[in-house]
Amino acid sequence: MNSRDTASACTHCGRDLDPAWKFCVWCGARVIPEEAAPEPTPRAERHLNPAAVFALVLGILLSPLAIAFGHVALHQLKTSDDRGRLVALIGTVLGYASVVLIALVVIAWIQLRVPV
Ligand SMILES: [Zn+2]
Repeated sequence: MNSRDTASACTHCGRDLDPAWKFCVWCGARVIPEEAAPEPTPRAERHLNPAAVFALVLGILLSPLAIAFGHVALHQLKTSDDRGRLVALIGTVLGYASVVLIALVVIAWIQLRVPV
């Protein structure tokens, strides 16, 4: 088999190269392969659990729903490979914190409004 047609010249010394060579035998220069090495496939993005995001958003807006969705998300994340455990936890904690804060505000408001 004649590989002359596919052989290329060394970019360093200009002499003919065998396609099988990784280095030029004449000058030692590295032969650039015709096919570039395949890019390493990026790790597949893990899905962000929607209930976890929902819990975080609701944790700021509607705390009781945040607690509910936070627990749903945390339960789902136990059995799935989804990301978002931290998001779900933050949402749930924010939900509880908001409930406590609202309760304190209501209690304070009642204490101020109702004379003892
Ligand atoms: Zn060469």
